Amino acid sequence: MTSTSTDQERWRRVKERLHSELGDDVFTSWFGRMEFEQISNSAGPNKDQHIVTLTVPTRFLKNWVGNHYRDRVVRAWQVEDESILGIDLRVRSATIKLPPPVREEESGPNAKRFAAAVSGANEPPLCNPRMPLMRGHEALTGSPLDPRLTFENFVVGRNNTLAHAAATQVATADHNEKLMFNPLYVHARVGLGKTHLLQAIAWAGNTTERKTLYLTAERFMYGFISAMRTQTTLAFKEAVRGIELLIIDDLQFLQGRSTQAEFCHTLNSLIDAGWQAVIASDRPPSDHEDLDDRVRSRLSGGLVVEIGSPGEELRVEILESRLAAAKMMHPAFEVLRAVLLHVAKSLTHNVRDLDGAMNRLLGRNKLTGEPVTLEMAEREMRDLIRPVELKRVRIEEIQRIVARHYNVGRSDLLSSRRTANVVRPRQVAMYLSKILTLRSFPDIGRRFGGRDHTTVLHAVRKMENLVSIDSVFAEEIEALKRQLQD
Ligand code: ADP
Ligand code: MG
Repeated sequence: MTSTSTDQERWRRVKERLHSELGDDVFTSWFGRMEFEQISNSAGPNKDQHIVTLTVPTRFLKNWVGNHYRDRVVRAWQVEDESILGIDLRVRSATIKLPPPVREEESGPNAKRFAAAVSGANEPPLCNPRMPLMRGHEALTGSPLDPRLTFENFVVGRNNTLAHAAATQVATADHNEKLMFNPLYVHARVGLGKTHLLQAIAWAGNTTERKTLYLTAERFMYGFISAMRTQTTLAFKEAVRGIELLIIDDLQFLQGRSTQAEFCHTLNSLIDAGWQAVIASDRPPSDHEDLDDRVRSRLSGGLVVEIGSPGEELRVEILESRLAAAKMMHPAFEVLRAVLLHVAKSLTHNVRDLDGAMNRLLGRNKLTGEPVTLEMAEREMRDLIRPVELKRVRIEEIQRIVARHYNVGRSDLLSSRRTANVVRPRQVAMYLSKILTLRSFPDIGRRFGGRDHTTVLHAVRKMENLVSIDSVFAEEIEALKRQLQD
């Protein structure tokens, strides 16, 4: 079935309905560029039910509308016609630009680029990166960009929808548009796509013609800041003139009081001058105890988004895209669906591990000719499978729960009192801080009323020992751990 004038009429009414339900802003943002294509029979058993095909110009819109407004759109159609079962959202450019059977996601230029990069083929990136940005000013060159890490290759799932949406917004903002989120701060555990998103923004700077600088925090530390210190004001101004987008990865590696002070100063002046800043770290701003309050509040003052663990659906989708890329270089490489699903089920908390697993399967298969079976997959993945990763726990939370459990005040734990009724709870809280967070001994000491790291070390050793010899105590610790991780 194709579009008839009455269908177009109905579409007009559906849009009016959505418009009045959602208001001007939301409607224009997400539905302004949506077009009606056709109504067709549903593929299911009941042929009297219909599916409406709608198109939007970008994958981002498709994902966003699909995730947030699908039911609402379906309901708006059902008012017109009860036989409408669902909607099929498509990306318009994909249907126009490419010959019909090819899907952009699977075989577009980026898939090729990705495949080339996976296989190590030395194909130059398809677009000419603007990095390093400032030749002739050594200290201000950016870190290198990986041609695979683009928006096209980023798979959107529930865990990263918001981070992806914000990154896209920042990446596609117009020169003169008011900055919506500044700074944009993305945090997540390792291997969940922070660098991927940041580099995608940097690559996109290419198309929007915005002058972009991507740096790891370390590079920032050694280059950018020393340039600020040593260059004459004039040379410095010349070098940074016109930068509009500053992207800093791995903020957690920014070390040293004076460097941090400089960073704070830089960040403030950049943002005041209207630059967009994008920052990634393995922890939220509030957990950057090393940064001073002013920076922390500046970092929290834009948009802070976390990327969570990838859901199973996303893991399958990522594996599928990796497989498609691998097959472009190695057409004989086969991975049965059952194996793919098994890998997705086994490797639950990290996208990098999924890459690793796929590379091992490919490597083993290429080198030995052994077909990829479930058994082979198990073998290759063995050391990638880890016990369920711990939820991020905050030291304050540990102190609160432990204090409550032992019926003392949290301030007692931080105090210098040495009576037995607070010494034990304090040691337990220190021990839990060590095993449930990534904090260092000195860090933990500071958080317990400025104690020395040897005190923490001593507490941890002592508790470890107790846990191993006293099963009642071990159970108590387990119960506290469970409470903290729920
Ligand atoms: P992080 O910087 O958070 O440690 P990376 O961005 O380096 O993580 O991601 C690790 C690997 O996983 C990279 O190869 C990246 O391309 C891939 N990856 C992570 N998230 C996604 C995603 N949503 N879609 C596709 N690939 C992803
Ligand atoms: Mg990273």
